[in-house]
Amino acid sequence: MHTVFLVISGALSMKRFSGLLRNARMRVALISLLTLVACASEAGAPGVEGKSTPSPAPTSKEKEPTVKKTEAEWKAALPPMTFHVLREKGTERAFTGALWDDHAPGTYVCAGCGALLFKSTEKFESGCGWPSFSKAAESSNIIESVDFLLGYPRTELTCAKCGGHLGHVFKDGPPPTGLRYCINSAAMVKVPSTQQ
Ligand SMILES: [Zn+2]
Repeated sequence: MHTVFLVISGALSMKRFSGLLRNARMRVALISLLTLVACASEAGAPGVEGKSTPSPAPTSKEKEPTVKKTEAEWKAALPPMTFHVLREKGTERAFTGALWDDHAPGTYVCAGCGALLFKSTEKFESGCGWPSFSKAAESSNIIESVDFLLGYPRTELTCAKCGGHLGHVFKDGPPPTGLRYCINSAAMVKVPSTQQ
């Protein structure tokens, strides 16, 4: 990052724009921008231009997806919002998904490959506008990694079987886990319980 800063600073001087850097607000804005660029590149910039480095910050649980399709095949197979979330690491707007306010018994599976992700017994109303769970149904079906898309580290969740982006997990959930799995509705399909 410092190298980048020096290069850009040098370029600005050469163009006789060095006076701009004397302006404190400009300097702060430039440093902030460079910090974000540096963080994004360190994290592999997942979900934006990070196609060449699709799996940043591997964890001990990381493994290769077993369900593989080309992006064209995924696009043809999935509804637009589901494709955007799963394959482009998109995020649906809060309180707009089909499942944030769903509390009927059942299980939630990956919309890309059907892998079991969560159970309604661990779903809780967090007030955030996205389906929230305190625990994964099968932890081996979910891969955790770190992303810096917002400029600070967050724990991203992806499906272990198809590599689809699901959402993030935060440490502000209810006991006993203290975790809040914040998942896009579009990334999941609800399988209602057959029990009445
Ligand atoms: Zn999947």
